[in-house]
Amino acid sequence: IKEKHGSNYNIFELSIAENFKAMLTMERELRKALMEGQFELHYQPQKSLDSNKIVGVEALLRWKHPLKSYIPPDKFIGLAEKTGLIIDIGDWVLKEACRQNKTWQDKGFQPVIVSVNLSAKQFYQKGLVEKVEHILNETGLAPKYLELEITETMAMTNEENILETMHCLRKLGVFVSIDDFGTGYSSFKYLSVFPITKLKIDKMFINENREQNQAIVKSIIHMSHSLDMKVIAEGVETIEQLKFLTEEKCDEMQGFYFSKPLPPEKLTKLLQTVG
Ligand code: C2E
Ligand code: CA
Ligand code: CA
Ligand code: CA
Repeated sequence: IKEKHGSNYNIFELSIAENFKAMLTMERELRKALMEGQFELHYQPQKSLDSNKIVGVEALLRWKHPLKSYIPPDKFIGLAEKTGLIIDIGDWVLKEACRQNKTWQDKGFQPVIVSVNLSAKQFYQKGLVEKVEHILNETGLAPKYLELEITETMAMTNEENILETMHCLRKLGVFVSIDDFGTGYSSFKYLSVFPITKLKIDKMFINENREQNQAIVKSIIHMSHSLDMKVIAEGVETIEQLKFLTEEKCDEMQGFYFSKPLPPEKLTKLLQTVG
């Protein structure tokens, strides 16, 4: 308090204040973005390695900032979680993904499952199941065309509540998958107890060239199948990776090798050409 300049204490304080200000600005912008419709969903196709058909699409959030270009989710999801805004943003994402998927079905395309990423706060919120049910009713999408992705770490904490929520979602007919599998603290117990329908092998095991990765991927595939779960590989970028996964009987793949996440119009064209 004595002096305004010169001490580390002040510099520290200033940077916190500045950080805080930047956060407040972004929070305000996020709220505005939601109100003014600046969010978009892009969709990355997921292919069955068996039939070679598109069987699903993952909805990925994009923020089209009026002054900047697209802002990727990693830059703002964290703050949205901290401020609780993720609930409102998440509601929008769920509704928009279901609405879009229903629109594709109404055009007569081969039906696909839309996967939506849920953050921890969203998954733990009271009334999630009722909310999902309401959105399905409102948009007219059948529950079997919706999949919710949660991460391994989320499933591990707060086990009882998670288990109950998962069972209710399954009873509703919605699928539940574990995202980024292999990067958190896995416990074999939860894999056998939770009604999980699919594991998504994290992209680092697929596209980082480390010798052990192939062994890890093989065992995740075999384990999934012996627990009656499907398994999908994320981040597939090369033909070699695709060949390996096909040989190992992985069910599905997603990655730049086949397609980047696409804006809805582009995905519509893709679905149109493949049936
Ligand atoms: P994620 O759920 O693991 O999504 C996969 C990410 O990998 C996406 O990044 C996707 O664009 C990228 N990707 C896809 N194929 C490849 C590939 O072949 N190679 C490489 N290197 N990357 C690939 P994106 O869209 O930037 O999303 C980042 C993360 O943000 C997501 O990771 C997810 O955790 C989060 N996120 C995205 N949308 C939402 C949302 O609606 N709600 C919530 N809560 N989180 C979201
Ligand atoms: Ca995901
Ligand atoms: Ca992932
Ligand atoms: Ca991730």
